[in-house]
Amino acid sequence: MKTIPVIGHETVRRDLSRALRSGRLPQVLLVTGDQGVGKQTLGRWLAQAALCSNPPEAPCGTCQNCRLVAGLTHPDFHWLIPIARPKATEGDKQIEEAADSIATAIAARRANPVYPAATGLENHGVASARLLLKTGSMTTVMGGRRIYLVGEADRLVPQEANPEAANALLKFLEEPPASTTVILTTTDVSRVLPTIRSRAVPIRLGRLSDEQIDAGLVSLAPTIDAAERQRRTLGAEGSLGRALHHKASATTDANVEQLLATIKQGGAGQYERILSQATFAARGDFAELLDGLTATLSSAARADLGGAGRAVPAVLRDVTPPSRFLDALDRVTAAREAAQGNVNPQLVLAAVTAELAEALWH
Ligand SMILES: [Zn+2]
Repeated sequence: MKTIPVIGHETVRRDLSRALRSGRLPQVLLVTGDQGVGKQTLGRWLAQAALCSNPPEAPCGTCQNCRLVAGLTHPDFHWLIPIARPKATEGDKQIEEAADSIATAIAARRANPVYPAATGLENHGVASARLLLKTGSMTTVMGGRRIYLVGEADRLVPQEANPEAANALLKFLEEPPASTTVILTTTDVSRVLPTIRSRAVPIRLGRLSDEQIDAGLVSLAPTIDAAERQRRTLGAEGSLGRALHHKASATTDANVEQLLATIKQGGAGQYERILSQATFAARGDFAELLDGLTATLSSAARADLGGAGRAVPAVLRDVTPPSRFLDALDRVTAAREAAQGNVNPQLVLAAVTAELAEALWH
């Protein structure tokens, strides 16, 4: 049996199974929920169920379609993963490069099903949109349905310098070809283009229970002992992804706090001190740092508005009014966009450091 192992979300799966059996599965779905609750895993499970050759038992896990989806090799199941912007300048070359990057990312996920969220430098750009439209216009290989799973759909930015591709994509989502299903996922529905949001049927995934997270850790990280599982479950806030990536995110949090403390301290030499720290220099680490800054500032803003979330670092506790956090978030978002170009990460860091000093403490 090779069914996609989904942890939790039984009611959602039952409703989707029922919709499939009665032929009423919406063609465009938008799966929302916190990071690490299993949105893309549910998407893969739904792809398997929709393509399965034994509908009453779908996903049966034994038919050829089920096995191909489980192995991420089904020719009519397309998993779009955010990628770095292709370097090629010519349209067809860009599509090829995007297809190669996505294939590499899929191969990595086949080898290790536990994967981190995309970094700030990765998107579904115009080349990915064109790739989707190109496969969408062909007949299916196996003669059945075609399923697209678009992870982190808030990173769908096909309008970047190409309104034509954006319009074509919107038209595709408005009226997908017959037997095509598009599953979009996002942690932040407000950042999905409204034109895309309005075309999709929303599905909300809740947080997982401690028991479910513990079960997920047992199956996905079998080397972790019971005490460590308990520690991670407590800090996971209902996110299996957070429990699995516990260590990595603790390092990023420490870097974010250190950076904010240095900015707050201000004074002569602050930028040199920051720039000399190797941790912030590498492109991948830098993207992770910007993502970490976004997460920290978002939860500080939420906490200020009376919402629950992660603990706000001490360095931010004296920041008032809350609008300063929103201002700071805007500036980090701008830095993330700048970092997507071929800009030296240290230059972007120097700029965002000055901007944050201004937004938070000036
Ligand atoms: Zn099957």
